[in-house]
Amino acid sequence: MPRLLRVFACICLLPLHQIVQAAELNLYSARHYDTDDALYTGFTDLTGVKVNLIEGGSDALIERIVNEGKLSPADILMTVDAGRLWRAAEAGVFQPVSSKILESRIPSHLRDPNNLWFGLSKRARVIIYGTGESKPTPTSYEDLAGDTYRGRVCIRSSSNIYNLSLLAGMIETTGEKAAHKWAKGVVSNFARPPQGNDTAQIRAVASGECGAAIANTYYVGRLLASDKPADKETVAGLKIIFPNQDDRGAHINISGAGVTQYAPNRETAIQFIEYLTNPEAQRLFAEGNNEYPVIGDFVGPIARLGPFKEEAIDASVYGKRQAQAVRIYDKAGWR
Ligand code: FE
Repeated sequence: MPRLLRVFACICLLPLHQIVQAAELNLYSARHYDTDDALYTGFTDLTGVKVNLIEGGSDALIERIVNEGKLSPADILMTVDAGRLWRAAEAGVFQPVSSKILESRIPSHLRDPNNLWFGLSKRARVIIYGTGESKPTPTSYEDLAGDTYRGRVCIRSSSNIYNLSLLAGMIETTGEKAAHKWAKGVVSNFARPPQGNDTAQIRAVASGECGAAIANTYYVGRLLASDKPADKETVAGLKIIFPNQDDRGAHINISGAGVTQYAPNRETAIQFIEYLTNPEAQRLFAEGNNEYPVIGDFVGPIARLGPFKEEAIDASVYGKRQAQAVRIYDKAGWR
């Protein structure tokens, strides 16, 4: 075969995205985990595509992409919490993506119904309970709103996206009235006004300032993975409880990504998100920040917490019911 024809035949055998592959990919990420770097290097090694990373807060990155408009260099927005992915979608940041790989690998409740964003790792919102507490161990989110834990509950502010999504899920499964009753009950059980992040709540349980708290599992995972004696001591003083195991299961949220509306490197962007769902990337993606992969077995220190029942709620609900959650928290006096 003439040489030119051979080259042409060879190119025709390649999948389309490899032919039109860009040499660069612009990733806007609100994930501030150094361990994510291994993922980007892995993609570059595999494809030769350089990943340009721009980090920022989720809302700031959304605003930036909106302001950049059609000239935005962003190909992908990656952020944590379906409530934030939903905000980005509402702002018109994403375009729908058709990918058999993503649709077959990622469970449907962990991606946008219109394929605007895709969940890539999971976290559960669990109860942290002090081993020194004399009261019965809580087993559900609802328990924390009951009289038993009066003056013992610590949790961060209601404007925090994790709490907004938690309540949004509750509105969906238990109804608005029950969700309001829960928020009011927790407020009457506060050990202190909401302050600090999830780690601060965990430490406050370990020190005895609070009896019970709610936190995302990767904050627990970080302490489990730590070699510091103080962290080991903190962990020793805690019971980690997956709530509602006898009914709807523990609240699950995701971190995820979508291809931006005006992505200059659209095909490469899709290829990157697909790559993030392969077994090795899932391991790196989840283990790097002590999350759960969306596909496959639990890995890393967080796996020591064992298997649990997850609430199989559609993650887009966290966005759809966000405004309702804000109103309920306000009414309940949860600042
Ligand atoms: Fe966090």
